[in-house]
Amino acid sequence: MADPKKILIVEDEEKIAEAIEAYLKNSGYETSRASNGRDAITIFEKKMPDLVILDLMLPEISGEEVCRHIRRTSRTPVIMLTAKVAENDRVQGLDIGADDYITKPFSPRELVARVAAILRRSSEKDPLFSKMSWNDSDLEIDIIASTVRKSGISVSLTPSEYRILLALIKHPGRTFTREELIGISLGDDYDGYDRIVDSHIKNLRSKIETDSANPQYILTVRGIGYKFGA
Ligand code: CA
Repeated sequence: MADPKKILIVEDEEKIAEAIEAYLKNSGYETSRASNGRDAITIFEKKMPDLVILDLMLPEISGEEVCRHIRRTSRTPVIMLTAKVAENDRVQGLDIGADDYITKPFSPRELVARVAAILRRSSEKDPLFSKMSWNDSDLEIDIIASTVRKSGISVSLTPSEYRILLALIKHPGRTFTREELIGISLGDDYDGYDRIVDSHIKNLRSKIETDSANPQYILTVRGIGYKFGA
């Protein structure tokens, strides 16, 4: 057996921290906890965790600052916990180097699933993957070249379709709302409606799914949005 992965939980709300810790321990992770930003940085440097779960709103030193500090010295994956729901805050969390974020209230089960997915990704040889493929190369993406191939044949995506696909692929299993996908495909200042996303998704499916009526890659999450399901 490999050594258990070490997770640092940075959260000042004790009940939340305890719940997260219990779930992670149950899943076989080794955990440590910090309840403020200062301790977080100290423990991070001492323990060198494999992943950090980082609350955004912390006493003393904010989650953003802790994240920036971590990023100055390492590529350790960071999952941000945020109570802020505004999309700008989420995007900012990702901009300062978080790998993922989860909005409170959340289910610890979902958080543990994200932890597992991110650790899987970061244990791949090149954490900044450039090529990915699914189902025996049925679907292939080259992120450096920005090309997509379906059954070996290159498909031509619009920039919006490509941005949506890339966002979904980078967070497998995570559901994106239509609002998030609008922001991703068209930029934050676009004041559009959900239909535009549905139409991008429809076009994407016609290009990368074998049967767009029974999609296997881009799945609908009823009432919410879409996720990558391969
Ligand atoms: Ca907090």
